[in-house]
Amino acid sequence: MAAAAQTKKRILTGIRPTGALHVGHYVGALENWLRLQDQYECYFLIADYQALGDHFHDIDLIRKSVTDVALDWLAVGLDPQRSSFVIQSYVPEHAELTMLLSFITPLGMLERNPTLKSEIDSLPVERRSVGFFNYPMSQVADILLPRAHLVPVGDDQAPHVEMTREVARKFNRMFREVFPDPGTLIGRVPRLRGTDGAPKMSKSRGNVIELGDDAATVKRKVMSMYTDPTRLKPTDPGHVEGNPVFDYHDAFNPNKAQVDEFKARYRAGTVGDVEVKRALVEALNQFLDPIRERRAAFQARPKLVEEALMEGTRRARLLAAETMRETRAAMRIDTYTSTWN
Ligand code: ATP
Ligand code: MG
Repeated sequence: MAAAAQTKKRILTGIRPTGALHVGHYVGALENWLRLQDQYECYFLIADYQALGDHFHDIDLIRKSVTDVALDWLAVGLDPQRSSFVIQSYVPEHAELTMLLSFITPLGMLERNPTLKSEIDSLPVERRSVGFFNYPMSQVADILLPRAHLVPVGDDQAPHVEMTREVARKFNRMFREVFPDPGTLIGRVPRLRGTDGAPKMSKSRGNVIELGDDAATVKRKVMSMYTDPTRLKPTDPGHVEGNPVFDYHDAFNPNKAQVDEFKARYRAGTVGDVEVKRALVEALNQFLDPIRERRAAFQARPKLVEEALMEGTRRARLLAAETMRETRAAMRIDTYTSTWN
């Protein structure tokens, strides 16, 4: 058993502590994390350094969100005994590896990154920091530090994992084989729309249904959701594609027959938004009920949350120190380290 445990492949993935988690995180990422906890040795990173990129003005939010993210992870059933919950800034090797890898990475890789491009475009000019521009580089280091084999993420993160592969291959070619080639695993819903109809539900945009929202909040958010702007009355034929209410039904309503019937009636103009939304409120609340319950239970036990974070971070630090020793040795920047350590 022990030998089998040691040969497990590793997962590294993470979330920025820029707010509590939402249902998009669940279908885009967390669902896969939950499923793979036994098969892989998992490192789940709370990327607080990375959050500074566009939230350096709001460190209070980052501090609060570190705990929120940990609570949400526990609430959905991630298990800190089997998997390591890691706070990025407690493992300073993340910063060191980011810097070392940045020297072998061509600027063009960042300039061409489509996710980075669109995120920078939507940031006000005064928030466009060098650190933000460099965040995909830090994500490369996050993945390579524990030498992960697999990165389960939503599809907005796929370009960063692709960049990781390119940097790892270049490093291995230039120096010696230190890093595995990590694979990408995209979630069941690669990119869930926002409640405002935007292509992505995202903490920073505020167009979210949080995993911890209470039933009344879910109802309020769903009832005021964007639907089909071309439809003026319930008897007009409506559009199901691109309509977030139906995307959410597909993602969270286990009653597929009901969803199919709503779609047919919506297209024919024989059902109103209100009826479709009411059924969605019910489905979402049923899905969220057990998550909310577990969240409240962990919220009442802050010591347990802290221990989970400290224990996982301690495990990650051991692994990080080992990778950095090998990385420095491969790059031959270790002239005196044998007498120094
Ligand atoms: P921010 O707006 O602060 O960037 P975010 O909501 O994008 O927050 P992240 O911490 O950047 O959340 O992303 C964490 C993980 O969740 C990533 O794997 C990302 O791909 C996934 N994810 C985030 N939003 C969605 C979404 N709407 N649909 C599917 N996956 C998502
Ligand atoms: Mg994001």
